[in-house]
Amino acid sequence: MKKTVRDIDTKGKKVIVRCDFNVPQDKEGKITDDIRITSALPTISYLIEQGAKVILMSHLGRPDGEANMKYTLKPVADRLSELLGKRVLFISAPEVVNEEVSQAAAGLSDGGVMLLENVRFRKEETKNGAAFSKELADLAEIFVNDAFGTAHRAHSSTAGVADYLPAVSGFLIEKEVKFLGNAVEAPERPFVAIMGGAKVADKILVIENLLTKVDTLIIGGGMAFTFLKAMGYEIGKSILDAENIGLAADLMKKAEAKGVKLVLPTDVIAAMEFSNDVEIREFDSNRIPQEWMGLDIGEKSIALFRDELKNAKTVIWNGPVGAFEMSNFAKGTIEVAKALAEIDAVTIIGGGDSAAAVEQFGLADKMTHISTGGGASLEFLEGKELPGIAVLEDK
Ligand code: AMP
Repeated sequence: MKKTVRDIDTKGKKVIVRCDFNVPQDKEGKITDDIRITSALPTISYLIEQGAKVILMSHLGRPDGEANMKYTLKPVADRLSELLGKRVLFISAPEVVNEEVSQAAAGLSDGGVMLLENVRFRKEETKNGAAFSKELADLAEIFVNDAFGTAHRAHSSTAGVADYLPAVSGFLIEKEVKFLGNAVEAPERPFVAIMGGAKVADKILVIENLLTKVDTLIIGGGMAFTFLKAMGYEIGKSILDAENIGLAADLMKKAEAKGVKLVLPTDVIAAMEFSNDVEIREFDSNRIPQEWMGLDIGEKSIALFRDELKNAKTVIWNGPVGAFEMSNFAKGTIEVAKALAEIDAVTIIGGGDSAAAVEQFGLADKMTHISTGGGASLEFLEGKELPGIAVLEDK
């Protein structure tokens, strides 16, 4: 177990907190979804209440080590001020830390809050450069990591800074570790995983790890076709990860050897083009005609998946089961989300597209936990230790 902000005394202390404020913005820089900011509020508010001097930092987009004002965190500082109902001091320093910033940090009052400029304005950030880590650390007395979305990266602001300061987690990381960790290590059974998304290659390690844990593995989405191909099925021009057909066959063998039930779509909704404006037809998944590509699971598969989920007690879902961005191919993903919303089980949505889908369908509050980190939750489910968590002190 890692220490959290609850386990240390922060009163009157300067606390530097790594948040994930990598918010989506429109062309004018207006924030289009502030969930990443609101997710960070419990930790920030707690530190304010404790009387800490709060120094926040984050990256935003990919400025590639240059002070490109398109990626300034100013809009985040403004939104955060509104949400907290108090001033958030923001100095748009191109070098992130400079004399003015250091003085402002030193001059914070108890319960005061400031936000640093985008840490990726500095080239050293993504290289975990020691000098930059030290500059950040010198602003504070305690490091809190609450950025689960970047915890799988060893950067100056996520890991390096912990070389110089006592380091603990915020509430968001605590919650992610609790739900993702418990689900994988001590699940109530039956434990079912649903994997979807475009490519098998991205999720091989997750599947391998989950095969040692789950009772049932449901595979949908684009990646199902590589498995169907490995079974000798005709998949038409459905998306295929040709290099990984052998691997899919191995994974199926592994599942069998471990007694894990592997469930694949038995039918698909198909089109001749990757488009929402063309004719659609339903085919059995073992004979998709040459010119057609499967873009969603069909009705029989929906019923099959629902049946597998009905009695589950723990479910992890990562990746849509169809090209859900197009309405013609969204039904399978909607039905999976609904099935999860209905069952009496711990339901965990592993970030990225499936999290977006659940939000889009208005079912987010029906899930036990929606991970805020796409890549990070995948690496967690692969069984890897994330660098931004590894550096935190143990209880
Ligand atoms: P990933 O980022 O790997 O989770 O993949 C998500 C993407 O997979 C989404 O953008 C979906 O549109 C896409 N996807 C899901 N099912 C299919 C499919 N049958 N064919 C092509 N793309 C798909």
